[in-house]
Amino acid sequence: MPSFLDQARWNGKGLIDGWQSLSGGTHDIRNPATDDVIATVAMATPTDVGAAAGRASAAQAEWAALPAAQRGKILSKAADLLEEHGEELIAWIMRESGSIQPKAAVEIEHSAGFIRHAAAMATEPNGHTIPSDDGRFSIARRVPHGVVGVISPFNFPLILSIRAVAPALAVGNAVVLKPDPRTPISGGVTIARIFEEAGLPAGVLSVISGGADAGEAMCTDPNIAMVSFTGSAEIGAKVGELCGRHIKKVQLELGGKNALVVLDDADLDTAVSNAAWGCYLHQGQICMATGLVLVQEAIAQTFVEKLAAKARQLPAGDPMSGQVALGPIINDRQVDRIQRIVDESVAQGARLVTGGRHDGRFYAATVLADVRPGMPAFDEEIFGPVAVVAAFATDEDAVDLANRSDYGLAAGVISSSLNRALAVGNRLNVGHLHINDQTVMAGPFAPFGGCGKSGNGGRISGPANWEEFTQWQWVTVKDSAGLYPF
Ligand code: NAD
Repeated sequence: MPSFLDQARWNGKGLIDGWQSLSGGTHDIRNPATDDVIATVAMATPTDVGAAAGRASAAQAEWAALPAAQRGKILSKAADLLEEHGEELIAWIMRESGSIQPKAAVEIEHSAGFIRHAAAMATEPNGHTIPSDDGRFSIARRVPHGVVGVISPFNFPLILSIRAVAPALAVGNAVVLKPDPRTPISGGVTIARIFEEAGLPAGVLSVISGGADAGEAMCTDPNIAMVSFTGSAEIGAKVGELCGRHIKKVQLELGGKNALVVLDDADLDTAVSNAAWGCYLHQGQICMATGLVLVQEAIAQTFVEKLAAKARQLPAGDPMSGQVALGPIINDRQVDRIQRIVDESVAQGARLVTGGRHDGRFYAATVLADVRPGMPAFDEEIFGPVAVVAAFATDEDAVDLANRSDYGLAAGVISSSLNRALAVGNRLNVGHLHINDQTVMAGPFAPFGGCGKSGNGGRISGPANWEEFTQWQWVTVKDSAGLYPF
């Protein structure tokens, strides 16, 4: 039986008007756990971005003019296909992005949820009537931007592409999707295939893999009205600058250095389990990963011992073995970066309790204790499986330490006193606050995004999607035109 993804159809190609060769040649996709080549994709140059955006622009008006229920139906069908072929697609996510099976399964489950939420959005009321005292019929309605460019990262490639693609399509935009060139199958081809099979009209969605030049071309192309970017703050700043210069709407979903505050009345084993999940899930390569564990002094030593004992029980290796908790880091450059941050922090006085080493791309679950502001492990987003533990004296000190970061994506507070946890949590400058929970949490229904360097004040998902993927249009209607004083 042919596979759903049907590699022969897209190998070495990109989707613009059907699958076709692109002008940037081809690029081998390697499994980061084994280095095996798993597929080849076409690479887009700015010329291909121009072609995709032009094609999308030509297809958009007709797509937007379809009855909303029909758009919703196509989206719902795409969600069904994702679930029906989940097993096959999970294996691709595991091999392409180094995900363990449960993480890859969550990508399928959540992505189907994102698409269904968007499908329902298509038929929601889309405006207001506005009081008028001069006989005009006056309404404000939400209209699509036109073509939305989506630029996505490698870590949750499917979810982080689909959470923008699905709502953008639902409300009548056409989309050009540029996934990360390390994960273009899970973050691109999969989405192209479900929408192709669901009956999305040709040209409404282009999927082209590409690097920085293709991404920058999306920010300057006159046919693209909005760019939805998820990635690092460094690249986000460039994207924001280019979009600003070209007067485009831009959504920036960037990094995080997310604090988990453990107060001294917390149940220790529960707090350790929360910290381990927040720090080590997907090797810490998550924007909401717990990047800083702030533990009150009285329990800090025992907490660190228990967390290290747990870390030692989390093997790293090839996810396809089914026997590991941690898969590979995405590439060697990122491994070097993690090691540099650990080594420099230790040289500055941090205590390496466990881990701090790697076997190729398999980085051991690590605990660094006695970390202080000014050390790279405290200040930088690591994007690796490193629990960075710092002790604090008073609840006030915890707030101060957590708020030192330039980022402001997520935070968690664990305490047996709800009032005390809320008193701390309410003072944290973050977009997501979780009381009695760790920091990694997302889904189709909640507005996602952060303060400071984590984004530009926008949010994505749930109630935020109308604001992001449409704009207001004011319409007045009179029975017939009248005369003015001149
Ligand atoms: P990155 O910024 O290097 O790459 C993200 C995307 O931008 C990729 O598709 C890449 O090809 C593209 N790109 C690279 N240079 C570009 C340029 N000059 N112009 C336009 N596009 C360009 O991100 P990364 O290192 O792969 O991903 C990790 C980062 O993403 C971390 O900082 C993480 O916190 C962040 N992230 C944020 C969220 C969120 O929702 N806030 C989610 C996941 C990851």
